[in-house]
Amino acid sequence: MIDYLIVGAGLYGAVFAHEAAKAGKKVLVIDKRPNIAGNVYTEDVEGIHVHKYGAHIFHTNNTKVWNYITKFATFNRFTNSPVANYKGELYSLPFNMYTFNKMWSVITPDEAKAKIESQKKDYIVAKLAERGLSEGDEFIPENLEEQAISLIGTDIYEKLIKGYTEKQWGRPCTELPAFIIKRLPVRLTFDNNYFNALYQGIPVGGYTKMVANMLDGIEVKLNTDYFSDRDYFNSIAEKIIYTGPIDAYFDFKLGTLEYRSVRFENEVLDIPNFQGNAAVNYTDRETPWTRIIEHKWFEFGKGENGNDLPKTVISREFSSEWKPGDEPYYPVNDEKNGKLYNKYKELAASEKNVIFGGRLGEYKYYDMDAVIASALDMCDKVLN
Ligand SMILES: Cc1cc2nc3c(=O)[nH]c(=O)nc-3n(C[C@H](O)[C@H](O)[C@H](O)COP(=O)(O)OP(=O)(O)OC[C@H]3O[C@@H](n4cnc5c(N)ncnc54)[C@H](O)[C@@H]3O)c2cc1C
Repeated sequence: MIDYLIVGAGLYGAVFAHEAAKAGKKVLVIDKRPNIAGNVYTEDVEGIHVHKYGAHIFHTNNTKVWNYITKFATFNRFTNSPVANYKGELYSLPFNMYTFNKMWSVITPDEAKAKIESQKKDYIVAKLAERGLSEGDEFIPENLEEQAISLIGTDIYEKLIKGYTEKQWGRPCTELPAFIIKRLPVRLTFDNNYFNALYQGIPVGGYTKMVANMLDGIEVKLNTDYFSDRDYFNSIAEKIIYTGPIDAYFDFKLGTLEYRSVRFENEVLDIPNFQGNAAVNYTDRETPWTRIIEHKWFEFGKGENGNDLPKTVISREFSSEWKPGDEPYYPVNDEKNGKLYNKYKELAASEKNVIFGGRLGEYKYYDMDAVIASALDMCDKVLN
């Protein structure tokens, strides 16, 4: 009899497995995929660590998590600075002085601010007039387009927000609710660093190697689906850590939780440099993909030995509708799915020997640092 069967070799499972083994527990990790690392899995292609389930940039303000994860990998100095491509015009993201200079040739923060404010004001005044209201009356945005323009003005909205958002959601911005965009941070500084995080980087050698270090010395069975022999797996372990989809655990008996999905088209190119940056967002409506990731730039185009790599791998990302059976990516944060999840959570509470964790087990969007923190909290609770 083992102490813990861990279903899922993603970050949650790997942290728990590592800590349980360290505490002297007998542990077995299973995963239905042919590889460890779950969604942070990186695959070696032409010496490049390709982020197979979407680009992953580690960033955190949590010093405990940073000190923990850096035991398993050295992180490089990668800083996320995406570029927007609007019909061939390139802009810096997130919106900052480089963006405003390119958009309007403004030089000072005051000029940039004045430009944004005047566009916002013109728009709001016109909209109020349309509604038979006068200047000074409260403007309540009725959809995402109105919300975005009232926060950032017309030019930034038209070139950098509209098309991208419509591709992401598959609907015109005028048909999307205003609450999707609560705020649009504007930086009146020359700062292209997307995340405001204390710590940021990519594990040198890829995420798979980092997770392999976490699972070092632990028995892992890949290509092994918990549901293929549930009774057997239940019989061999005192407790189960389950990081698969919570609705699947209960045989979808209350209904299926929905996800938003992404589709990736990968291409190996026989050139050393395709776009000169890890992420380029295509913000026009006509280009069918939302962005292109060029994986080698997460590690500055260098191979294991610091050598320049002759080829490159790119992934075009397309937003796609999710249907049962597809890879689950982002949980849908609406009332319907929230209610259904709460019902599954009640069922889960009565499974005394099972702990549900991670992004699928808790039906929650977790960044990597948050999922590590959550697994460490669980270890504190149950391992001592
Ligand atoms: C497109 C995308 C981009 C992201 N980018 C970032 C980013 O830039 N920065 C960041 O911090 N976070 C990012 N994240 C979040 C990050 O992916 C998660 O925090 C992390 O993967 C969660 O780990 P997990 O262990 O909970 O889940 P997972 O990695 O999904 O692991 C769960 C594992 O369980 C296995 N499993 C499921 N069912 C069974 C079963 N029946 N039997 C056996 N095994 C099973 C699965 O195969 C999987 O390997 C991103 C997420 C997405 C979707």
